[in-house]
Amino acid sequence: MSQASSEPSPAVKISSFVLIAIIVTLVVAIMALANAIQAYFNGNLEVATVLLIIGFIGVGACTYVLFQMRQRIIRLRIEAPPITTTIECRKCGFKTVRAFQRGDYIFKEVDICQKCNEKMLITAIYREVREKVKASSPFLR
Ligand SMILES: [Zn+2]
Repeated sequence: MSQASSEPSPAVKISSFVLIAIIVTLVVAIMALANAIQAYFNGNLEVATVLLIIGFIGVGACTYVLFQMRQRIIRLRIEAPPITTTIECRKCGFKTVRAFQRGDYIFKEVDICQKCNEKMLITAIYREVREKVKASSPFLR
């Protein structure tokens, strides 16, 4: 039996606006760090310290946000629930459930009923949702 292994992973789109904001913040933070080094060598220690703090906070925040996004994407990929196909006999009502297979569609005639040798129909194809999605992240849509 061939499993639906070629099923596409759930599309997780990261808002491009958030991505741009992160990149801009990262660039500003790196610039701040570069300026801090420059200020340090110019003997301007106070400015160097302030720029250093700004730079580190910026880099830290970006790293944190990117890490959170990555974690969420990984979690979504793992938790993709399986698709189930329900097959029903129209004559005697015998019902079986199996994993979705490529080419399945509603009202497709599949196996023969084990009880009455009548052709069985696919009556439902659905994704089993075990748990409601938790509070959605503002970074993903
Ligand atoms: Zn039957």
